[in-house]
Amino acid sequence: MKEQFLVWFFKFKLINMKWILFYTLVITGAVLNSCGGREQEPDKEKIVIPEQQIPVTVPNFNADSAYFFVEQQVAFGPRVPGTEAHKKCANFLTTKLKSYTSDVIVQHGKTYAFNNKVLDVINIIASFQPEKENRILLCAHWDSRPFADHDPDEKNHNTPIDGANDGASGVGVLLEIARHLQQSETQLGIDIILFDVEDYGEPQGLQSDRDNTWALGSQYWSKNPHKDNYNARFGILLDMVGAKDATFTMEGTSMYFAPDIVKKVWDIAHKIGYKDYFLFEKTGGITDDHRYINLIRNIPTIDVIHYDASTSSGFFEHWHTIKDDISTIDKTTLKVVGHTVLTVIYSEK
Ligand SMILES: [Zn+2]
Repeated sequence: MKEQFLVWFFKFKLINMKWILFYTLVITGAVLNSCGGREQEPDKEKIVIPEQQIPVTVPNFNADSAYFFVEQQVAFGPRVPGTEAHKKCANFLTTKLKSYTSDVIVQHGKTYAFNNKVLDVINIIASFQPEKENRILLCAHWDSRPFADHDPDEKNHNTPIDGANDGASGVGVLLEIARHLQQSETQLGIDIILFDVEDYGEPQGLQSDRDNTWALGSQYWSKNPHKDNYNARFGILLDMVGAKDATFTMEGTSMYFAPDIVKKVWDIAHKIGYKDYFLFEKTGGITDDHRYINLIRNIPTIDVIHYDASTSSGFFEHWHTIKDDISTIDKTTLKVVGHTVLTVIYSEK
């Protein structure tokens, strides 16, 4: 993804909202094993919404499991479109999702890169309760960047990156969510889309004659959805959700298209204890997969993405460098994000 602060800056309205907290958290005593045969944490927790007096049971997100899914992707090597590692990882992700739902579509397409190279697009879509009309879209990109063009050492600028955080982290969280969706149903149908070719955008310092060179997989899907007239109540994109002590701000493109969804997710995150991660701070808009889902498909979609004010890019410190490897991944952050998204989707009626 790419910063787009100036383009969006003047478009945003400041929104003053009173954040209403309405959840009461009750942890149930039930201890069930969720993954790996250990009995550490309650498998489910019960949340009561006082306004409705309807308890919502949320499965317990397992960070070890999510971390393992990140490791497995990174082990293929950089998942750069057109490479063997990319192909193998696509097969891995497809097989894994098919173990959780019989409703998996692998969408193949072609797109043009910034340098006019034709790239194959492989978007992988897993649906849960496909018969339900009301749906939530969860997504992340699974490809990794072909060039470490922000690496401090110039000689690495053409080296592909592992993309442990930028790519694999969001997918790891979604695979763990998929594992729970197989076991207990949500009230709305859920679609998980793993987008390809997000991170093949034009390298730093190069001005190509093409526009919109980022998020090519989601652009393709937005123009060619896997089902005719596909719609969802809202969408949540996860990107760079694995670094230690990550902070997620209210990103400008999300606030422009879907402020209510940002509020919903941030409220829930605070209610379940993650105020240090989800900041009530508005930051500039970026180009990421959610931009095209909003613009082309009109599905209000937000980006949960790590913002770091101390870096010149605003992204996490190893963004688009060769250091975006498995050592950047922190289980607590995966848990924070996964638990929040699970609570959102199991609360929605
Ligand atoms: Zn990236």
